[in-house]
Amino acid sequence: MGSENADIVIIGAGFSGLYAMHRLRNYKVVCFEAGDGVGGTWYWNRYPGARVDIESMEYSYGFDEALQQEWNWPEYFSAQPDLERYANHVADRFGLREQVRFSNPVRRLAFDEASNLWHVHSEQGDHVVCRHVIAATGSLSAPNLPPWPGRETFTGEIYHTARWPKENVDFSGQRVGFIGTGSSGIQATPIIAEQADQLCIFQRTPAFCMPSGNRPLDESHEHDWKTNYAERREQMLNSYGVSLVDYSRFSAHDCTPEEREQILEKAWHSRSAFQLLFAFSDVMTDKQANDMVCDFVHRKIRAIVHDPETAELLCPTSYPIGGKRLCMGNGYYEMYNRENVELVDVRSSPIVELTAKGLRTTDQEYEFDAIVMATGFDAVTGAMTRIDIQGRAGNTLLEKWKNGPTTHLGSMVAGFPNLFMIHGPATPGAQAQMITSGEWQVNWTADIIEDMQRKAFSRIEATVDAEQAWAQEVDACASQSLLRLADSWYNGKNIEGKKGGFMVYVGGFPRFAQLCEQAIEEDYSGFVLE
Ligand SMILES: Cc1cc2nc3c(=O)[nH]c(=O)nc-3n(C[C@H](O)[C@H](O)[C@H](O)COP(=O)(O)OP(=O)(O)OC[C@H]3O[C@@H](n4cnc5c(N)ncnc54)[C@H](O)[C@@H]3O)c2cc1C
Repeated sequence: MGSENADIVIIGAGFSGLYAMHRLRNYKVVCFEAGDGVGGTWYWNRYPGARVDIESMEYSYGFDEALQQEWNWPEYFSAQPDLERYANHVADRFGLREQVRFSNPVRRLAFDEASNLWHVHSEQGDHVVCRHVIAATGSLSAPNLPPWPGRETFTGEIYHTARWPKENVDFSGQRVGFIGTGSSGIQATPIIAEQADQLCIFQRTPAFCMPSGNRPLDESHEHDWKTNYAERREQMLNSYGVSLVDYSRFSAHDCTPEEREQILEKAWHSRSAFQLLFAFSDVMTDKQANDMVCDFVHRKIRAIVHDPETAELLCPTSYPIGGKRLCMGNGYYEMYNRENVELVDVRSSPIVELTAKGLRTTDQEYEFDAIVMATGFDAVTGAMTRIDIQGRAGNTLLEKWKNGPTTHLGSMVAGFPNLFMIHGPATPGAQAQMITSGEWQVNWTADIIEDMQRKAFSRIEATVDAEQAWAQEVDACASQSLLRLADSWYNGKNIEGKKGGFMVYVGGFPRFAQLCEQAIEEDYSGFVLE
């Protein structure tokens, strides 16, 4: 098949890729998407209970006033079908669908130095030659399949929460093994427990789970948002990305134990799960303050879960609260009081293999009709490193990142000109509200592309020095935060053998945005343009 030309190739039709298509509609754009529909995260993660944990009035696009006025969210925290419906509405309303080549993942990118053009090769054999590539490939989009042997021998069905089938899965009458107790596990298990005969949950590390308080969206709340949308969107960009949180100015040490208890109780029942992390000014920076909040949640768990042994297993003790992204559940801890639910600690007796009948831990074999893996993602870097990317002089991104990802401002990599990432390594990612921060990054990227066109530049590349300076900034912020004390997908420790340091920028979205803007204002500092 011959090649074709475009100005820009966008990889991914999740919320970031969709907006990038709209923002860059005056260019010839081709978008490749691995799935057969739009929505990214909300296309793939259709497991029972999948739901956003930031209020939908907030977790939505702000680029178009008419869109945000006309759209109605049925609940405070939308479920996957509503988020997928919204992504489809946006694709149709703004005429984006025609530019997307569905079920057609990009497999190879090669940069031609003589012409400063990228050659993009897809699975279906498309070959597009373009000036710029925007990788909107997602930071939680490459599912992690644990390397246990025997997968093919299991005679029942195996599911991964991030590759859930479109048709209804019914676990009625079945013995189900469920592996993983992160966000997806916490959302899916209470629903599966109601269907299945037996549900056996395998836990490596317990998560902190807050009650979501989800309910139908009331009209006055919607009206309030719709009347104040401009101001609210501004607030989001000036906070950690989540505007509904009250960011306390008082240290946990400044309160009496009674006052602390009152504040935490209020936070537990507040509109945002994240309120617990900001109930005092020092929860994420002071270990003792953090311990007080941990202790509060442990007491909640012990009060809800009847069996003391199960309750202790569910209490996270090996990392600070907030060290991993907080989870929100609907009846998660309560589920463990059901007769048909069992919790197995695989930290003390790890899973060693899948068998014909189920799976075996170092302790015993368990028999199941179906196994569900909620084993997370090769986060932040996985979607990029699964593409064969050859930059200048034939150097590959896989080789460049073999000891961990390096970027300038989370957006570009030295040696890989004209290749931009949205939510790339060392951006705030899940430390912000990702539709809004994705929109912001797309605008920043599009401004650069438009500026390059105006000034007749054909190439932009980050410098190695700038990458090193950005790594120092990222490390300096991480070192002040208790986030560094947890093994999580933030630092790749959820995947055995994955190298690299902290992959998320925790200096706050406002500072991130300010540094990105400053780099451009200072005549593209950290970049070389030709
Ligand atoms: C279960 C779950 C719950 C979440 N909940 C929240 C939340 O409550 N709040 C929040 O802010 N964030 C949440 N997130 C993070 C979520 O990923 C972002 O909010 C947002 O959806 C990211 O959009 P995106 O377009 O950047 O990436 P994605 O939605 O991940 O989309 C990336 C797209 O790129 C495609 N792609 C990847 N590689 C290729 C390739 N080689 N070729 C072609 N296509 C490719 C993928 O198929 C995918 O469609 C959640 C994530 C998960 C997994």
